[in-house]
Order: sequence, then C-alpha cells, then structure tokens
Amino acid sequence: MFPIAAGLVPSRNPGGRPSSWAATGRSGGVSRPPYDSLNLGAHVGDDEQAVGVNLSRLARLLAVPADRLALMDSVHGAEVATAFGPGVFSGVDGLVTQEPDLVIVARGADCVPMALVGDDGRTVAVAHCGWQGLTLGIVDAIVDAIARYGSGIDAAVLGPAVCGTCYPVPPDRAAEVAARCSTSVAAAALVTRQDGQMGIDVRQGVEARLRERGLAPEAIRLVGGCTVEDRNLFSFRRDGRTGRQGIGIRLGDLARMDT
Ligand SMILES: [Zn+2]
Repeated sequence: MFPIAAGLVPSRNPGGRPSSWAATGRSGGVSRPPYDSLNLGAHVGDDEQAVGVNLSRLARLLAVPADRLALMDSVHGAEVATAFGPGVFSGVDGLVTQEPDLVIVARGADCVPMALVGDDGRTVAVAHCGWQGLTLGIVDAIVDAIARYGSGIDAAVLGPAVCGTCYPVPPDRAAEVAARCSTSVAAAALVTRQDGQMGIDVRQGVEARLRERGLAPEAIRLVGGCTVEDRNLFSFRRDGRTGRQGIGIRLGDLARMDT
C-alpha cells in the first residue's frame, strides 16, 4: 500500500490553511532489493535515480512538483532548521516551515519519523527521533521551534518505529534514558523484555513527551507498527543494508492544488 497512511488536518484558525501529510512504507517505489521498493533515503547504497523517482512519488502524492521537497540528513541530534525552500538540510533532526507549497520530510528505518501541525494553520514541522534524540531533547526542540512562530500544536503524527521488545539495549543505555528523560517519558520508553533485558520504545517516549508538552492524547496519532516485525517496513536493525521510509507534510488542501 502506498502510502501506509495519509490525512488532512483542518485549521482551527479561520485565516489558516489545512495541512496534508502522508506516511510511507516499503511499497509503491522502484528500488531493487534490498531497498525495495519505496526507499526515500540517499546515501544508503541505493541507486540515486531510483531514490529520485521514489521521492517524486511522495511529492506527487502531496501535490507538489518533485523539486519542492525539503529533506534532512539526520544526525541523531536535537538541532532544528527553518526550511524556506527545498533542499537537503544537513546536521539537523527537525525542520519547520511556513511555506505553503513545500513538503518537508522526515525519514527513518527504526527511528521515529514525525510530523506536527501548528494550531495557527500556518506552521508545520517534521522531526526524526531515535534514543539519542529522545535524550538530547529533539521533541522539545521541535515543539519550541513551532512555538517561536507563536503557534501551539494541533496534531502530531508518529510514523512506524522499532518497538521496545525488538530493541534490546545494554544497561548503561537504559540508564542514560532514565537519567536524561523525565520520569514519565522514561517510564513510557523503557520496557523490560521477557528475557529480563531492557528495551527502548522510542515512539512511546516521544508520545509521552508530547503529552508533557501539552498535547491531548487524541491529538497524537500513531501510524504503522513495529519496523522489525512488519516486513512491509524498512528496518535497519533487522536487515542492515536497507532503505528508509518517511513522513511528508505540507500546508494546503490537496484538492485545491492545481499542480
Ligand atoms: Zn517489535
């Protein structure tokens, strides 16, 4: 299925625009194994032309030309950039924009790709979050980036990610999450597996932090399951050499676009 989920978030601000988003999995692209088929990630060993075709399909899905994508070379940090136009933003794990005809994209293959909708109907954001980003505060950084535009958050969509059972970690990593995250975030993210080892469910941690930052439970939507368990999703932990799925979001109602 292409995409695995998509939606339109209406604006509560009468002067604002709705936001359109789409989350992708493995299906619907042109890449060959082991990147089959909708790999959105460059620099993972896939044919660049194939990745370009795949990215253009995401653009078309969200009704923008193929050259109107803003992507991130994520680094597992907590830096956020403002996207005034398309391109690849290096060294950041979050993008925020107020450009109506621009799709901003977060990619991952176990880490959490997320999209956020500002309550002003003028601001959207994406972020990429793994366990390091969770401890470094990328969730706060992206919420703060939207707040700098004077906007709260109406909705968040969290894409597929590895679950805690499928992501065992050494004790020191679990301890770092416990030490650096709030009590409720650590409680949500840390799971004790059946074998007694600790695991990290980053997506549960992200959701807990968004709720601490004021989002209502119903404002947070989880799409897609565990990347390791679902073979229709890319998983770096399961496969090593593999592609990347993602979430794209833009301001605007697709039905009203003429591209
Ligand atoms: Zn799992």
